[in-house]
Amino acid sequence: MASVFSNPNFEVALLGGGQLGKMVLAEARRMDIAVRVLDPSADAPCRLGAQQFSQGSFQDFDTVMAFAHGAQAVAIEIESVNADALEALEAQGIPCFPQSHVLRVIQNKVAQKQFYADHQLPTSDFQRFSALNDLKQAIHAGTLTFPFVWKLGQGGYDGFGVSVVRSADDLTRLSEGECIAEALVDIACEIGVVVARNAQGESQTFPAVEMEFHPTANQVEFVVCPSALPSDVIAQAEALAIQVSQAFNAHGLLAVELFYTASGTWLVNEVAPRPHNSGHLTIEACPTSQFEQLLRCMCGLPMGDSQLLQCAVMANIVGADGFSGPVRYEGLDVAMRTPGTAFHIYGKAQTRPFRKMGHLTSVGQTVDEARARAAAARDALKVRA
Ligand code: ADP
Repeated sequence: MASVFSNPNFEVALLGGGQLGKMVLAEARRMDIAVRVLDPSADAPCRLGAQQFSQGSFQDFDTVMAFAHGAQAVAIEIESVNADALEALEAQGIPCFPQSHVLRVIQNKVAQKQFYADHQLPTSDFQRFSALNDLKQAIHAGTLTFPFVWKLGQGGYDGFGVSVVRSADDLTRLSEGECIAEALVDIACEIGVVVARNAQGESQTFPAVEMEFHPTANQVEFVVCPSALPSDVIAQAEALAIQVSQAFNAHGLLAVELFYTASGTWLVNEVAPRPHNSGHLTIEACPTSQFEQLLRCMCGLPMGDSQLLQCAVMANIVGADGFSGPVRYEGLDVAMRTPGTAFHIYGKAQTRPFRKMGHLTSVGQTVDEARARAAAARDALKVRA
């Protein structure tokens, strides 16, 4: 592909105008790459800073085709886009990041899990069921036993399609639909590796990050880099993430979520073929961020240096529990005095309990220093209505 700087008409089309898109736009501005954005919401975070912002559905075939017409490359920042449209754009010679074949597998958790099994990629044992009733019958027949992790094939979001099932009582919480039952893994820690891969098949990983969970809320509290795991163990995770990206033949970013088990093995949990929350800290911690790397892949530019320059900890800024409505940020005056800390405010007009409204990344000489800074800044800031 001709590099962007030798083509005066080069323009990237981005499906989805949320916070991930907004961070792509920031890098695109810096590198002077034109980006047009499609999102159904007129006040999406990408409403500012795009070459052109179009309001419309990225799930509608005709809307996506009309929107992407004339663009030189297409990317997504959300997975629920119309995969048929991506395929039709590819047929017109417009490269998509990711390609439609990657998106189709990822859009269904059952297909994704089957993909790992078919490609001999390590993943937890599972059984697939075409309907919830089949799963219940398997329990009745004794071929499926408690505990297990239920995952809905399609339509789950923000944890609603995943549930640990320990007893018959828990079955009442599950929704209808094609699903899998996974073995409940004894997880020692959860690691994320963002892989970038260009259309020539060159791969580069970002440093592995470790998810630290809140002791009671069962939510990721901090994303930490580097991980506390030994470097040879982390090297295995990075090698596995590249293997996963190669198996998909994915172009652009692939965020690979891995479990490191209590018995010292690696399992692939799931992937996202787009910029990912686990890669936010690359903005402050690496010479090239995940967002810039995606643009470089799309524009035929060389891969940027992705090494870790300093310890970094990311915390999400979420809407306070009990508050819904037009957003107000309280305590920014105190929070923004925190040393080594960068704030990213997504620009969402309305807050809701636990809605991701922004994030912050703190850097430090050590992970402990960065974590303490991130915790102090986060605690000082309240997102209310
Ligand atoms: P989502 O798409 O909602 O993020 P995930 O598949 O990532 O769903 O699962 C969410 C969380 O549930 C994981 O981060 C992990 O903590 C836990 N989990 C998922 N699968 C398993 C499993 N097989 N065994 C144990 N815990 C799991």
